[in-house]
Amino acid sequence: MSDDPYEYDDMFIDLMLFGGKVCSHCGRTLPANTERFNRDHTEPDGLTVTCRQCRAASARQRYYTPAGEVRRARRRALRIARREAKENAT
Ligand SMILES: [Zn+2]
Repeated sequence: MSDDPYEYDDMFIDLMLFGGKVCSHCGRTLPANTERFNRDHTEPDGLTVTCRQCRAASARQRYYTPAGEVRRARRRALRIARREAKENAT
């Protein structure tokens, strides 16, 4: 949790306004709003079961896995192919 007292106040007010939602990953109770959770229409409350911070952390982790390496290589190849297609068109 942050040491910033203003953020703490915001969190307190948001918890009253939106109600709390427990992140299934870190177990923290956070305000059930889109500032803390991403949207997910498949969930009853329209929010993902893990908080934004945890999702960002797991995305960072995936980046360094072999699967992440493959995805980056694919994106790189796509970018080069698109640029070449554009240069050939003009
Ligand atoms: Zn979390």
